[in-house]
Amino acid sequence: MANPRKIYLDNNSTTPCDPRVVEAMLPYFYEVPGNAASRNHPFGWAAEEAVSVAREQIADLIGVEEKEIIFTSGATEADNLALKGVFEMYKRKGNHIITVKTEHKAVLDSCAKIEKMGGEVTYLDVDRKGRLNLEELEAAIKDTTILVSVMWANNETGTIQDMKAIGDICEKHGVLFMSDATQAVGKIKTHPKEVGVHLMAFTGHKMYGPKGVGVLFVNRKKPRVKVTAQIDGGGHERGMRSGTLNVPAIVGMGKAAAIAKAEMEQDAARVSKLRDKLEKELSANLEEVYLNGDIDNRMPHVTNLSFKHVEGEGLMMTFNENIAVSSGSACTSASLEPSYVLIALGLGDDLAHSSIRFSLGRFTTEEEVDLAIAALTKGVSHMRDLSPIWEMYKEGIDLDAVEWSEH
Ligand SMILES: *Cc1c(COP(=O)(O)O)cnc(C)c1O
Repeated sequence: MANPRKIYLDNNSTTPCDPRVVEAMLPYFYEVPGNAASRNHPFGWAAEEAVSVAREQIADLIGVEEKEIIFTSGATEADNLALKGVFEMYKRKGNHIITVKTEHKAVLDSCAKIEKMGGEVTYLDVDRKGRLNLEELEAAIKDTTILVSVMWANNETGTIQDMKAIGDICEKHGVLFMSDATQAVGKIKTHPKEVGVHLMAFTGHKMYGPKGVGVLFVNRKKPRVKVTAQIDGGGHERGMRSGTLNVPAIVGMGKAAAIAKAEMEQDAARVSKLRDKLEKELSANLEEVYLNGDIDNRMPHVTNLSFKHVEGEGLMMTFNENIAVSSGSACTSASLEPSYVLIALGLGDDLAHSSIRFSLGRFTTEEEVDLAIAALTKGVSHMRDLSPIWEMYKEGIDLDAVEWSEH
């Protein structure tokens, strides 16, 4: 094979834009050039009409009203708007926010900023599967608590939280419930009103739409939720997010929502079979493979596996010219840090560094999964063949008892 095909198993980083989405967007670059805020001529009306259709498609996917959809530039901005916007709006009521250690950086870094602005933030632990403890959550709520922020599904492990149970606790104590649902929307049913979520962030480019567009759902009735705008200007989006709407991208996200609504179930059924095959065959071909996450509550397209005694970044180098996946290590300026999500699950540095996240998608084929199984099997075996640690492990030496020299 001179030029093997490239296989994309990194859909949690971003999904390809569905060709049907691209097609829907195209007229809005040239043929319909209007600004959706231009209320006084047909070009503006056409743009506004297109935005209104998209708003309806997105509202329909998540079971909310069109007026509850606030367009942003993506999930990062929606997370920032929800957290900082609620903090500013409700700070006379209280300054305490509860979130979880395994949240996305868009939530954690917003919380860190809120702490600098005088807020207090509790970061809950998770169990080995990545689920938070409901009793710990309830015990953390106090008089000053204004918001609980829990992601619907985790981007690294695919673990899904018990959203209804968390919503019930928030309701009982009268605190707002916000969710970063970026990894769940369009792939599993995510109806915020059914589980008591009052604010929900998600993005176009993780649901086969374009990059650079996202949504914050803000509940309008019972309770009427308000957030302080973080971007000021023309008062767009009911004053919560100013800025000229990105009409082509919004049209694309709307189309992506309509496709997701129609095809979500069949997509999930097909892709979870491929995911299970990948998992089963890798575990059959190789020793010492560990699943990270919650096998009973997880996204249909994700698996996170640790290949013990194999360093994930090195493993990726054996095939990453052809296959895209993610590893459980994050490159910081000076070193390779183990994923904070996997550490929060209780993995040691070694298992965290040896983890690989496979995220399949709508366009993943069985042939690609077969090629990935072959490449991973070969790569892991090759690295273990070269590894003195693996040799010691095979000889039955208790590696935890070995005293490694510091020098
Ligand atoms: C990708 C992602 C984000 C960031 O979304 P952008 O639209 O790229 O800003 C936030 N949260 C989660 C869980 C994500 O997976």
